[in-house]
Amino acid sequence: MKAVLYARVSSREQEEGFSIAAQLKLIKEYAVKNKLKTMNEFIDIETAKQTGRSNFNSMIDFLRDNPEVKNILCEKTDRLYRNFKDYLTIENLDLRIHLVKENEVLSKESKSHQKFIHGIKILMAKNYVDNLSEEAKKGMLQKAHEGYYPSFAPLGYLNIENELNGRKIKIIGIDPSKSHLIKKIFKLYSTGVYSLQKISHFANEEGLRSRKGHKIHKSAIYKMLKNPIYYGDFKWNNKIYKGKHSAIISKELFDKVQKIFFSKYNKSQKIQKHNFAFTGLLTCAKCGCAITAEIQKEKYVYYHCTSYKGKCGNQFIREEILTEKLGELVKKIRIEPKIINWLKEALLMSHKDEQEYHNSQIKSLQVQYNKLQHRLDKIYIDKLDEIVTTEYYQEKTNEWKDEQSKILNNIERHKEANTNYFEQGLRILELVQKAYSAYLEQDNAGKRNLLNILLSNCTLNDGNLYPTYRKPFDLLTNGLSRSNWSGREDLNLRPLDPEPSALPNCATPRKPQLNYIIIN
Ligand SMILES: [Zn+2]
Repeated sequence: MKAVLYARVSSREQEEGFSIAAQLKLIKEYAVKNKLKTMNEFIDIETAKQTGRSNFNSMIDFLRDNPEVKNILCEKTDRLYRNFKDYLTIENLDLRIHLVKENEVLSKESKSHQKFIHGIKILMAKNYVDNLSEEAKKGMLQKAHEGYYPSFAPLGYLNIENELNGRKIKIIGIDPSKSHLIKKIFKLYSTGVYSLQKISHFANEEGLRSRKGHKIHKSAIYKMLKNPIYYGDFKWNNKIYKGKHSAIISKELFDKVQKIFFSKYNKSQKIQKHNFAFTGLLTCAKCGCAITAEIQKEKYVYYHCTSYKGKCGNQFIREEILTEKLGELVKKIRIEPKIINWLKEALLMSHKDEQEYHNSQIKSLQVQYNKLQHRLDKIYIDKLDEIVTTEYYQEKTNEWKDEQSKILNNIERHKEANTNYFEQGLRILELVQKAYSAYLEQDNAGKRNLLNILLSNCTLNDGNLYPTYRKPFDLLTNGLSRSNWSGREDLNLRPLDPEPSALPNCATPRKPQLNYIIIN
């Protein structure tokens, strides 16, 4: 059987003693043992500056070009993926993933519980959170400070590439096909005669379209008229930055428009600012537009299609009913209590080697600490016996105590690394276990957060909800068939067996068997 090999390490990890060589050795031994022929090796070494994974992408290309290669060999989960996008990319290729150190082979045929644990590990992969936000944020903020708008160009501007001191940088430049219309919109509104609705009509008649080709709704006109980018500044993370791009309108015209807003909308703006709990979570099943909300008779909140593409006929839904229905979706995510314990055990086992590493580090640090303590005790006696001078005693005592506190810090770090992993994993399991009761207890903002974790999308069709659950929670909807949750193949022979004794016991969790898939 043909395979590719993937290894990854960051420069920081290299300093801490994790090496590519060790990963390669382990993987190659595994390949020989399991009669897998390595067709290609892909190795990524990441530095602080260069975070892209060019060889991961090359590997994906290679696998696409060579469909007869069906196996990826790598050390463990967090070496292979850094985010869910990676996971989905690989999943779509329909491969067998050999996680050598975790003693696990994953494929489409894997059991649900195995996929679930795998999903949780990806959620916890070291770089997942950092990668998602920090790096991207840092780069964008830096760009904003330099005066370049860091995101997609708003209407009237285009993203263009420019060379600046030898480096390529994406900036925004005026879109000559649209900028005159933007200017006209500001001018019309500044007269105070036209409503946002009228201006929206005007824009659409003139053929102005959004980046995605949609008509310009009045809410988009509102945003446009509030956007300082058109006179030369821009807003980023709620701060105004001086932009280096060309202005479309003058600051005077912008200020004039703001005055009109102030006189017109001073009261009704409060309503516009109302935070509806579930907008942004739902899309219309009939036309694909977003679902928005409004207050009627100053107390009832209704959710309905924005109808950007014209009336689609989808029914309104009251917030109370929607809350209840969303709760039903959360309720579907559950794990039987008996299985939770078994999952915890599986999580623990999957992390055993790392735990052993930290424990051995802690042990050797403790030996060093005790050695220093011994020296400190001895030099104190030497001082009393006047074998050493007071100055020398002071100097050495300070030095060793300093070393001791460094060692204590290190010990703490290793202890933390050990507990963090489990806490994270347990938190996810707990979240799942208590999802519905947590949903009921929380206010609307809390409910929304929870839904955001569990759902990737949800459509609304005449009052009915059609959810898409996020991975790996999709595996837990409607509970899982019991046979699916067992690592034992023999249960498949009688999947309808109602006998609970066939399940792992709650009190004495069975050791998980994660390596039961037989390699041909
Ligand atoms: Zn619709």
